[in-house]
Parts: sequence; C-alpha cells; structure tokens
Amino acid sequence: MYPRLVMDIEKLSGNIDAVAEIAKERGGCSLMIVTKALCADEKVVKMIAEHPAVNYIADSRVQNIMKNYDAIRAGGKESVLLRLPMADEIENVVKYVDISFNSEISTVEMLNEEADRQGKKHKVVLMVDVGDLREGIFFRNEDEIIETARRINGMSNVELFGLGVNLTCYGAIIPKYDNLSTLCEIAEKIEAAVGIRLNMISGGNSSSIYLVDKGELPERINNLRLGEAFLLGNDTAYGTRLPKTVDDAITLEAQIIELKEKPSLPIGEVGVDAFGQKPYYEDRGIIKRAILAIGQQDMDRDSMYPVDEQIDVLGASSDHMLLDVSKADRQYKVGDIVSFRLGYGSVLKAATSPYVGKAYK
Ligand SMILES: *Cc1c(COP(=O)(O)O)cnc(C)c1O
Repeated sequence: MYPRLVMDIEKLSGNIDAVAEIAKERGGCSLMIVTKALCADEKVVKMIAEHPAVNYIADSRVQNIMKNYDAIRAGGKESVLLRLPMADEIENVVKYVDISFNSEISTVEMLNEEADRQGKKHKVVLMVDVGDLREGIFFRNEDEIIETARRINGMSNVELFGLGVNLTCYGAIIPKYDNLSTLCEIAEKIEAAVGIRLNMISGGNSSSIYLVDKGELPERINNLRLGEAFLLGNDTAYGTRLPKTVDDAITLEAQIIELKEKPSLPIGEVGVDAFGQKPYYEDRGIIKRAILAIGQQDMDRDSMYPVDEQIDVLGASSDHMLLDVSKADRQYKVGDIVSFRLGYGSVLKAATSPYVGKAYK
C-alpha cells in the first residue's frame, strides 16, 4: 500500500545508541525516549523497550502508553505521560502510567484519590516554566511552586518524584546554562523547604542535548527527554546533526499518478490556494511535472526532502503533491515510487494519517 511510512528499526536503534552515548558523557543522566511523533508505533516501541540504554518511555497521549503497556512492562521500563492529564483520563493515567507530568494541584489531588482507589502509588513530576510559556508553574512564582511541592509531598498515594521543564516548544526559547540553573535552584529550595530529595530533574527535550557536549548542562539535571533527537538525529536548539545518528531511519514513499510536460507558471488570474495562501511560482519554462498520490493530509510539504536530490518539490494540496522531475537522471514514469527523508512535521502527520501505510526494515 502507498503512500507508506518506512521505519528502519535497526537505524532507529542505532540512533538511540548515539544519543545514549551523548547522555552518558554527562554521568548520571537518564534517558527518556519520546514516542509520540510515530504515534507510539508498536514495533518501534518494542525495540525501545528492549534497548538497554533506555530508562523511561514517554508519550503525550495516554492511549499510546495503554496500547504499549505490556511491551513497556516486559522491557522493564517506566512509562511517562508528558502532557498534563485531563480530568477524564485520570483512571487510565493511574492504571497505565508510572510517572505523570503535572502543574495543577487539583489534578494531582484527583490522581491521589484515584491511586488510593486502585491501591497504587503514582509518581509526579512538577513542571516549572522558565520562560517558554507552555506548561508549568511560572518560575518567578517561587512561593506557589514550593507550596505546591509541599502539598504533593503530603499526599498519601502520590510521590513528588521530581521537577521538569519544557523549552523550545511554544515560545521557541533555547535551553541554556542559565535558565536550566534556575530550575536546579528551585529544586534545591524545594528540597530545603520540604525536607525531601528530588529524584529527577528533567532538563528538557531534544533542544537540551547540545548542552552536554558544551559541558553546560547544569550538574543537577539528571534526565533528558528525547524524541526528534533519536528519530531524526537533530539537535533542535540550533538544528545541528548529532554525531553518529542517521537522518533516514524514517522515510515516506509515494506513487506517481501523473507525469506530464507542462509550464511552470499557471495560466489565468492568481487567487489563493487550497489553504488560503497566495502561491509563488518560479518560471522554469516547460517542465516535467510528476503528481504523487499523497497530500498535506498525510505530510507537511515543507519537511519533505526527496532522496533523489535531482527532484524539486513544487508544492502540495490536500491529496496531491507536485514535483519537478525535469533534471532527474532517472526516467520517472507513472507508477514509480518516490522516496523522501522527513522533518518532524511530516513524521507526525504521516504517522497519524490513516491513509498512510506502515512498513519496516
Ligand atoms: C514532545 C515532548 C518532548 C520530546 O520533544 P522532542 O523535541 O521531540 O525531543 C519532551 N518533553 C515534552 C513535555 C514533550 O511534550
């Protein structure tokens, strides 16, 4: 079936080796692998669960953890829910998740009551916002952070496992020694005020890994949560390649359904495209145009990179993608398969689209 997302399990495993090696440079930094971009594909999660360097398996959707629960258990890893729990999913969170990220005391109270009902202990990582302005208690409200930590610590069936920060997501704020040190200072204030030791200080996602090599990951940070770094090999702070990773562990294949010579400029008055955008066209004269049976419902056209570098991407509507294959040595024809390396946006959309099949290498 085409289009299809091709996942190379061995290459993905190699990418985990590579990021684990970086994390290990900074002794005592545990590795949390994030599975949401592939919708927690079962074969990939099984590999992650069996990988000896991985400590935690994390996702933002509780459904993704539920469907992989047995594999995560069999691999001896702990499951982590990254997105703050909704009131509706508390029962499943307590049942299937070992550690959840939280910033609202009312939610933690519900988790505590549910954990009591299920006769379980549930671990909580309290999120602190140091400036990216997504989830977490704002770092300047120290009293609120300490008071929340104190109240969680006083609950019978919830354990305050640690602190976490998220960056480079909404506000695109880059993790630095300074803002991560702020998190560590808050951790120490909590420890002093509440009289506990926090197990985990989770210092961010794939945008924090570059700090290890620079020796600028503060001492108390002892966990990194990596999605894109292991999927695509990217440091997402500055977009550099991580050593020993590959960028073609995940590819997307689509089929040519039309191939014709036509002008590169549309004929007639230009309005807006299917997404309300005013398009821009470059006049390349008459070109060989291929249409692929894939569209923006299945991928993000700005993060599709043809493996055949002689192909240019012209654009895409919901169900069609247009290529200029004029300069390609290969003589493309209708029915041929074109393969792409992907950026994060396309991985996410392709994995989510029910119209995209899955294949493994
Ligand atoms: C998605 C997510 C991650 C992983 O992000 P990457 O950039 O893919 O490494 C880590 N933490 C949280 C809270 C997330 O939502």
